[in-house]
Amino acid sequence: MLFSDIIFGPLHSRRLGVSLGVNLLPAHGKWCNFDCIYCECGWNANHRHDHQLPTREQVRESLQQTLQTMQQQAQLPNAITFSGNGEPTLHPQFHGIVDDAIALRNTYAPQAQVCVLSNATLIGREAIFRALQKVDRPILKIDSALETTVQRINQPQGLYTIASVVEQMQRFDGQFSLQTLFLRGIYHDVALDNSTPDEIRRWLHIVVQTRPREIMLYTLDRRTPAKRLQKLLPEELHAIAAQVQACNTWGAVVQVAG
Ligand code: SF4
Repeated sequence: MLFSDIIFGPLHSRRLGVSLGVNLLPAHGKWCNFDCIYCECGWNANHRHDHQLPTREQVRESLQQTLQTMQQQAQLPNAITFSGNGEPTLHPQFHGIVDDAIALRNTYAPQAQVCVLSNATLIGREAIFRALQKVDRPILKIDSALETTVQRINQPQGLYTIASVVEQMQRFDGQFSLQTLFLRGIYHDVALDNSTPDEIRRWLHIVVQTRPREIMLYTLDRRTPAKRLQKLLPEELHAIAAQVQACNTWGAVVQVAG
């Protein structure tokens, strides 16, 4: 599923409520430095024909028009969320676009939160780090604390180490949301499962190291490009949430979306 507009929705999000989406990636392609086996946009290789990114001005105008219309109809969203066809922080004008979105939110929808769904690969870049510090909810992904599992689930397209991402996450001083998608299944004829006791024990160590103010646990919801994947049951997610709560000494909000 690709989003063909710069602004899409509003969608009812399991995690964000009524969310107006902002797609900074190509309208007819996908651009991401991960290639997750569960990505709702499909495989990178199948969506490489469109490289055209929207300009900062196009994003600002589109968002302004949409928010004006929603304001007139008294149907303002709970969230303005950067997501779409890939990794939003890859857009070279991401920082400025975030500034524009915050200004428009303040004008038209002051109750809405500005959110960014990111795979956290670029949070070490100063401009991206500063932009993410400005938004209400920077939502950063880590799907496993094991490099081998990350390589299999997320398939990073460049250098990626968990230690480096954790180190960069610690710079947020807890002011971010950690999101983790749990799944099991078979990929390339090898079983994978990021919810085993050993996976959870190591992942909890990252949670404690980074102390995010919010922890989002979720599982598969839509069709996935890899076909032999299974979602976790709600009770399995709640069991993981209970383990988070057992070590949650800093009062993080733990959200489960089954
Ligand atoms: S990080 Fe997000 S957009 Fe990129 S491949 Fe994974 S799920 Fe898809």
